[in-house]
Amino acid sequence: MNIKTIKSKTNLLGLSKKQLEDFFISIGEKPFRATQIIKWVHQRGVADISLMTDLSKQLREKLEENCEIRAPDVVYEKLSNDGTKKWVIKVGEKDLIEMVLIPEKNRATLCVSSQVGCAVDCSFCATGKQGFSRNLNLDEIIGQVWVAANSFGLPREPNSRHITNVVMMGMGEPLLNFEPVVNAMNLMTDDNAYGLSKRKVTLSTSGIVPKIDELSKVSDVALTISLHAPNDELRNELVPINKKYPIQQLLDSVKRYVDSCDDKRVTTIEYILIDGINDELSHAKELGELLKQLPSKINLIPFNAFEGSDYLKPSGNRVKRFQQYLQEQGYITTIRSTRGDDIMAACGQLVGQVNDKTRRKERAKKNLIQTKAI
Ligand code: SAH
Ligand code: SF4
Repeated sequence: MNIKTIKSKTNLLGLSKKQLEDFFISIGEKPFRATQIIKWVHQRGVADISLMTDLSKQLREKLEENCEIRAPDVVYEKLSNDGTKKWVIKVGEKDLIEMVLIPEKNRATLCVSSQVGCAVDCSFCATGKQGFSRNLNLDEIIGQVWVAANSFGLPREPNSRHITNVVMMGMGEPLLNFEPVVNAMNLMTDDNAYGLSKRKVTLSTSGIVPKIDELSKVSDVALTISLHAPNDELRNELVPINKKYPIQQLLDSVKRYVDSCDDKRVTTIEYILIDGINDELSHAKELGELLKQLPSKINLIPFNAFEGSDYLKPSGNRVKRFQQYLQEQGYITTIRSTRGDDIMAACGQLVGQVNDKTRRKERAKKNLIQTKAI
């Protein structure tokens, strides 16, 4: 087999259910084969087509000739003192992305990346500071879940629930890579694949309003809004996309999203607390007022430091005071505990390992192009 043949093989990990059905129709097979493949690949973690025993030998041979199951390469894995696990994954020729598994008492949450870098360029985010490199393809997004699920050992235990929740909160703005992200989330919630309930798959967004409306037409996963400021003046500074889609437009689109779901939803609002910037009691009051229009709970995230940022994490007392005020107003308000920061796996610290000057320049250029396109 030469390199050319390898390259031209279809990666089954990168096909949605619909694309798999179309693929089987195109080779003269019945579309239900798609479900069989999804079960083998995503439910059981099998990468070897010859093991797919409910397909005829002839079909397996045909598939082996034309297809493969190629997961992204893990180049580095590290376990934090608190049990958080971080993987650095190579995608394509040179790009690196990160994913993080956060085990807790009764659940384990996998934090998945959707892009290499990010064009939104929030002032407090290490990924944003890195600039935008490129969108991830479906195989690279769902491949993260596949790799993490297989890390618990093969064959996968039937009905094992090692990963109970997935959050699209790794590198990138998921709504700026719409189709692959939606296809990946569909596989996460497919009973024949990862079988997670739609409430356990969370998409976090900085607020790409038209894409929230588009999402409401095709999905009803949990939506989390990265708000971080209670007024437009401050949010323009922290989350620059706010200049295009200001707070009220954003909250209106969230209301439309919630209305389109067939169950009652409380939206999670993420709010990073940065010392002396957005963590005054006056900000808490403004936030409490603002959110009266939307059933919401608030997740406070003390800023995680990274090299090159002048922002500081507020003291525990300031964080508590902010939380207490919102609780008194009747909001469920939690403080996100920092996990994995000894291995740079905490929120906002995800940058991939390689970050040299030339690549920064290349990314800055692409960043400009994507920002213009938003
Ligand atoms: N782009 C999406 C999803 C990825 S960011 C979004 O912004 O929602 C995931 C979360 O990490 C967001 O809530 C983001 O605000 C938070 N985050 C980014 N940088 C951080 C930092 N330095 N400290 C703490 N949280 C951070
Ligand atoms: Fe992008 Fe989210 Fe980071 Fe903002 S916080 S730069 S949207 S990854």
